[in-house]
Amino acid sequence: MSTPDRTNSDFQRVVVLSGPSGSGKTTIVNRLTQDSPVKLLKSVSATTRKPRPQEIHGEDYYFLSDEDFRQGLADDLFIEHAEVFSSGYLYGTLKSEIDRAWQDNAWAFLEIDVEGALNVMQQYPNAVTIFLTTPAEEFEKRLRARGTESEEVIQKRLATAASEVKYAGRYRYIVVNDELDRAVSEICEILKSEETSKNA
Ligand code: 5GP
Repeated sequence: MSTPDRTNSDFQRVVVLSGPSGSGKTTIVNRLTQDSPVKLLKSVSATTRKPRPQEIHGEDYYFLSDEDFRQGLADDLFIEHAEVFSSGYLYGTLKSEIDRAWQDNAWAFLEIDVEGALNVMQQYPNAVTIFLTTPAEEFEKRLRARGTESEEVIQKRLATAASEVKYAGRYRYIVVNDELDRAVSEICEILKSEETSKNA
């Protein structure tokens, strides 16, 4: 099968979802991959951070050494990359993940940070970009409830969240995750109408 033309503007089935840690992104992503009315293929990002317990290479992330990640950058394998949370860890979307989705006639579904999303918007101006927010009081509570991060990491994530929210206006859609089912169905409606307009 031939590789779809990543530069063809008619062929830009790309969905980007961003939102602060604790906005419920992961749960929403899991629900969308089951319930979406359009075919979505979750892009598996590459990262230099270490796997958490239960995380699987090639499913949750491609866990790369710093050296391999930088070699990938030198070889122009990435659509975008960013150092997320000032953590020193790199995260990036591989071009091959977009190709994988398009070869499958699916939307490439990218769950990435704001910096990465701004880069994707430049390359794919028609990308469907969604910023997920959480009612303020819920936010820190969810982050802490996860119980996997140190206080220092939590503080960094809170600071990143505060700065990321400033970019919400750059996204085509802002969805408030006040109630899971409602937020999921709002995103499903967005995807359905975007699919319809692409097919029109
Ligand atoms: P975590 O370390 O908790 O899995 O992910 C942390 C953050 O990295 C999330 O906010 C997510 O949006 C971001 N992220 C994951 N993959 C990518 C990627 O490929 N590119 C960019 N720019 N950010 C990513």
